Amino acid sequence: MTARIIDGKAFAAILRESVAEHVSQLKQTHGITPGLAVVLVGDDPASQVYVRSKGKQTIEVGMNSYEYKLPADTPESELLALIKQLNLDPSVHGILVQLPLPQHIDEALVINAIDPAKDVDGFHISNAGLLATGQQAMVPCTPLGCLMMLREYCGNLTGLNAVVIGRSNIVGKPMAQLLLRESCTVTVVHSRTRNLPDILRGADIVVAAVGRPLFVQGDWIKTGATVIDVGINRIDQGDGTTRLVGDVDYDAAKEVAGAITPVPGGVGPMTIACLLANTVTACCRAHSLPEPKGLAA
Ligand code: NDP
Repeated sequence: MTARIIDGKAFAAILRESVAEHVSQLKQTHGITPGLAVVLVGDDPASQVYVRSKGKQTIEVGMNSYEYKLPADTPESELLALIKQLNLDPSVHGILVQLPLPQHIDEALVINAIDPAKDVDGFHISNAGLLATGQQAMVPCTPLGCLMMLREYCGNLTGLNAVVIGRSNIVGKPMAQLLLRESCTVTVVHSRTRNLPDILRGADIVVAAVGRPLFVQGDWIKTGATVIDVGINRIDQGDGTTRLVGDVDYDAAKEVAGAITPVPGGVGPMTIACLLANTVTACCRAHSLPEPKGLAA
């Protein structure tokens, strides 16, 4: 069996088109332009790339993009003051603080200072709680993107055995909550799990968010399973070059799985597209307008 390749790039392009249509409708019908503020503290090169890409895509779908680049030694109080200002700004519907933050800044304090209604990353403790209790929340972008792709490729997820590898607050836990909401039977495995390969062998859906290159072996995958690889790992090829790989041994897994996301080109592109979708959702909620279909969880 050779798996269907889940093309996250194509999927993200379709989602961005849908976001752009909704943005255009909001402008024409209500005179509202959704706005996303992205705050970057310091000069981490990877973060700079992400922020640039987010800003570019925000503008491409017709939204307003506000970028705040602060020096690495910005005092925590100054960052909190900026967030307070953005919380009060009616032209800003989404606020994203690029992580990681410099060590002298308390990440949790900063994230929880964002108005939960503008927390388009879905990391605020209120949004985590709302999601966990099955209420309307802002859903973290990466798991939201994974869910959208799973719905597309598996159809109805009810009753399927889903195994999530990893229990981080930004991927593993919200992913498990979303799959529970879809009535999957969900198992979360982590570094202390016993017999992990055996647990995976019973999974109809595998979501790997481990951060270990090629961790999931082909013979851990059930025939026909759908595999979503969240991992992004850069490995040395031994000849002075590097390449990006996921958490799944893709070459082996694709011979067994029914469908699989590649790395790069799978989950990654969906994450920013979902950030844009969340900003439109936040904008509609802020103006008590009906939420566009297909953009939220
Ligand atoms: P974290 O490091 O926060 O969490 C990793 C999880 O994997 C932990 O729960 C850890 O378990 C578990 N784990 C580690 N080693 C093992 C092991 N040997 N067996 C089983 N479980 C293990 O990572 P994130 O959730 O933030 O990210 C995971 C991956 O996803 C990374 O590669 C990251 O780069 C990528 N990522 C990709 C995104 C995208 O847009 N595509 C977005 C966000 C992340 P324990 O809790 O016990 O330590």
